[in-house]
Amino acid sequence: MSSLDGLPPLRDVIARHELAAKKALGQNFLLDLNLTQKVARASGPLEGVTVIEIGPGPGGLTRALLALGASKVVAIERDPRCLPALAEIADHYPGKLEVIEGDALAFDYYSVQATDTGPLRIVANLPYNVGTQLLVNWLTGPIWPPFYESLTLMFQREVALRIVAEPDGDAYGRLGVLAGWRTDARIAFDIPPQAFTPPPKVTSSVVHLVPRPHPIPCDGDALARVTQAAFGQRRKMLRQSLKPLGGEALLAKAEIEPTRRAETLSVEEFCRLARLL
Ligand code: SAM
Repeated sequence: MSSLDGLPPLRDVIARHELAAKKALGQNFLLDLNLTQKVARASGPLEGVTVIEIGPGPGGLTRALLALGASKVVAIERDPRCLPALAEIADHYPGKLEVIEGDALAFDYYSVQATDTGPLRIVANLPYNVGTQLLVNWLTGPIWPPFYESLTLMFQREVALRIVAEPDGDAYGRLGVLAGWRTDARIAFDIPPQAFTPPPKVTSSVVHLVPRPHPIPCDGDALARVTQAAFGQRRKMLRQSLKPLGGEALLAKAEIEPTRRAETLSVEEFCRLARLL
């Protein structure tokens, strides 16, 4: 594989810095820079854009984002072993790559908005063990429109299908309601396991989410609670699964039949329930 940016091939970088993948950190690296460029492109033109990348690892996607013209990449990485490799990329793109060693779950994303003026996007090949929680945090924050202009994220395909799911299907659940409430979400493309080092067991998908400017008014925490209760017992009728939150009385106030099941409710109906909590 030839390098597209004058930096060494990722395989050499990984060997030189001894970056054997750690399963506990969800490390499945993309080494093909054509593929990482395809992921970066799925977020749209990058000129003038600041990108927050979660988990840059050895930097394959980071390099693609910078090669495609992102004005700045703020990369949050938990594994200190990756920092020397990322420092080489920062040297190659002076002033354009800021690496933050830390946990993306604990990071204050609004601190980036405060210091940079251009639009902000998140682009990431997410560690599978924290990916869903990160997305839920970004979708349910109290401030809307949020700090980001869009999210372009890689998940296991099964999770991606849940994010873009519509009512009345098996994949529809808490993630589909939260994503459908505040964003337009679509799957951009799939990536087969063999594209990664080491290969994961399943196919991955890149999901692109764009915030809705005016989502149905409702509180994110309340919506998370009501969807958790409803889908926690998805085969049961709502009068049973929502009992801890008010059961039949809550459903009557929301004018929703108590015999219905969670997967038949629209996002608007879930928001109605959340507003009544
Ligand atoms: N971006 C690289 C790529 O595409 O080849 C690596 C992606 S790998 C799936 C996930 C990365 O997230 C790893 O580098 C891992 O160390 C990092 N990571 C895992 N948990 C993290 C966390 N809580 N906060 C920040 N980074 C994390």
